[in-house]
Amino acid sequence: MTTVADAPAGGLTDTQRQVMELAREFAREHIEPHAAEWDRTKEFPRPVLDELGKLGFLGMTVPERYDGMGFDSVTYLLALEEIAAADAGIAVSIGIQNAIPATMLLRHGSEAQRERWLKPLARGELLVGFALFEPDAGSDPAGMHAQAVRDGDGWVLNGAKAWATNGGTADLMMVMVRTDTPGARRGAKGISTFIVPTDTPGYRPGKPEDKMGLRASNTAAVALEDLRLPADALLGEEGMGFVYSMEGLEAGRLGIAAQAVGIARRALELSVAYCAERRQFDRPLRDFQGVQFKLADMATRIAAARALAHAAAACKDRGEPVREQASMAKLFASETAMWVTTQAVQLFGGYGYMRDFPVEKLFRDAKVTEIYEGTSEIQRIVIARGLYRA
Ligand SMILES: Cc1cc2nc3c(=O)[nH]c(=O)nc-3n(C[C@H](O)[C@H](O)[C@H](O)COP(=O)(O)OP(=O)(O)OC[C@H]3O[C@@H](n4cnc5c(N)ncnc54)[C@H](O)[C@@H]3O)c2cc1C
Repeated sequence: MTTVADAPAGGLTDTQRQVMELAREFAREHIEPHAAEWDRTKEFPRPVLDELGKLGFLGMTVPERYDGMGFDSVTYLLALEEIAAADAGIAVSIGIQNAIPATMLLRHGSEAQRERWLKPLARGELLVGFALFEPDAGSDPAGMHAQAVRDGDGWVLNGAKAWATNGGTADLMMVMVRTDTPGARRGAKGISTFIVPTDTPGYRPGKPEDKMGLRASNTAAVALEDLRLPADALLGEEGMGFVYSMEGLEAGRLGIAAQAVGIARRALELSVAYCAERRQFDRPLRDFQGVQFKLADMATRIAAARALAHAAAACKDRGEPVREQASMAKLFASETAMWVTTQAVQLFGGYGYMRDFPVEKLFRDAKVTEIYEGTSEIQRIVIARGLYRA
């Protein structure tokens, strides 16, 4: 059954509708029934990711010539929303893979790198992550310290990365490190991107973080200890890693917006059902106008967040720059998810505060969408800068 909270199927192409329905069916059958358990145990369900890979969901936006599905960005967001509605922890793994490493390899990889890494990524045979941020360099990643130095034809990497999604479970990581020299720092222009198979000696992930939410997702610090890489591990041009990261984050932020919409939509669906069942003062909660207004505002904000994200995705597919649009979509959708899940907990009353009821998990899962891939404050900085750009 579709509701007013769902994406309006009428405006979708056949492919978009079919992919959305496939993602919804898979999510409801294979993800949603286990989400509470994964949340409790912090289990990262790799077999589910492998299944999603076989269906093409790990290479949705990669062109077919590189073994991907070649979907447009709106299709990708529709699928991600469905997965996130079932479990946001699974959605973030898919989102990272599709957005950041895939974009980097596609745009800047050599043909040999695309053959070797992008094709298996797109086929879902490799789980890939992205390590930019460091313990002391979060909102200002250009202040990073991890360093690569030349060693004959290759490189040796040392340093520490913080909270990498899939850090302990990925097969491959795109790692940003400095390639300028300590005596001649070049800020953002001194950062390069390396393709790092995680079985390389010196790649040392920490134990999975014990997070507030998104607990089915593996998040781990990664130490780089005398990690030796061949020359062909460098992606694109030396010194361009920061630029590649920002490009990847543009696509990534659209994915986070879809993830936030999925979380918020699920909270609304559960609230609508609960308010029809729960009775106080001899009538269901939904009969009270104060409750109806809350539900109406939740539905309206979700529709607005989805529309903003889809509009930005459509711009991206037309080849238009979407830096500010992606930030607006992420900012609005993540704050919507936090607001909607807060209302949902309130509508459930004391039950909303209990682990036995799913809105509590959605509330915890929503929070991180305001933090990662740039906090809400950083999105506002990006948007405001755009207002002054000539
Ligand atoms: C679950 C999870 C998964 C993650 N996955 C990844 C990943 O896969 N790869 C990766 O590289 N990183 C990842 N991260 C890191 C994440 O992107 C950073 O945590 C985030 O960018 C914020 O950096 P920080 O935590 O260092 O906060 P800080 O930069 O220390 O910010 C602290 C506070 O100060 C505010 N602030 C900072 N600068 C300004 C300013 N100029 N103006 C106003 N306010 C400001 C921030 O908005 C925030 O409220 C992940 C983080 C989490 C929690």
